[in-house]
Amino acid sequence: MKIYVFLGPPGVGKGTQAKRVADEMKFNHLSTGDLLRAAIKDGTDLGKTAKGFIEKGELVPDNVICGVVVEKLRSMGKDSVLVLDGFPRTIPQADALGNASFTPTGVINFTCPDSMLIERIAGRRTCKKCSTNFHIKFQLPKKEGVCDACGGELYQRKDDTEAVVKERLQVYQKQTAPLIEYYTKKNLIVNIDGTGKPEAIFANLKKSLQ
Ligand code: AMP
Repeated sequence: MKIYVFLGPPGVGKGTQAKRVADEMKFNHLSTGDLLRAAIKDGTDLGKTAKGFIEKGELVPDNVICGVVVEKLRSMGKDSVLVLDGFPRTIPQADALGNASFTPTGVINFTCPDSMLIERIAGRRTCKKCSTNFHIKFQLPKKEGVCDACGGELYQRKDDTEAVVKERLQVYQKQTAPLIEYYTKKNLIVNIDGTGKPEAIFANLKKSLQ
């Protein structure tokens, strides 16, 4: 199994790129954020545990998320190629992945300055049905409030408000950014500039996923 980990701060565009890679390159896509939001919507035990953490901009505890992800990976075919979007987000999560023999093929580290991230996230609108992202300034849907891809209703995630975004950026710096060094030591990091247009980022990214 080939695994490409997509790493980067909130709002860097890794989810958008992951969806595009899944569509165009026929890779599997696992977003732990989407998985947790679906669990909240379905009212499962996982969702009930995760809700409070997500709404505050904190990470769900490692012991809650690791088992779920490893179980998912074990259920996937050995020949599959997977984009892992939003996991690992801490060193213990990366260790759990490696200990379960799922060492990434590559780790794509998306970069972007904080000021741009806050503007991107605070204006982000997400489809309730297929979780495609839009933006009130940079990527307007054809019809206001309606997803171009599936016709679903667009909404602002509770954790996309400016106050929560700032907390998420701090959490990223403290808990997730150390993974850059962790995977650099393993020679797995590829840096991708996340500041440009999605189209240009995708063109760059494709070259790193061959
Ligand atoms: P995302 O959609 O990737 O921005 O994730 C939204 C929220 O889900 C995060 O702010 C966390 O609260 C939670 N979350 C997603 N992935 C993880 C993870 N790997 N570990 C812990 N919490 C996570």
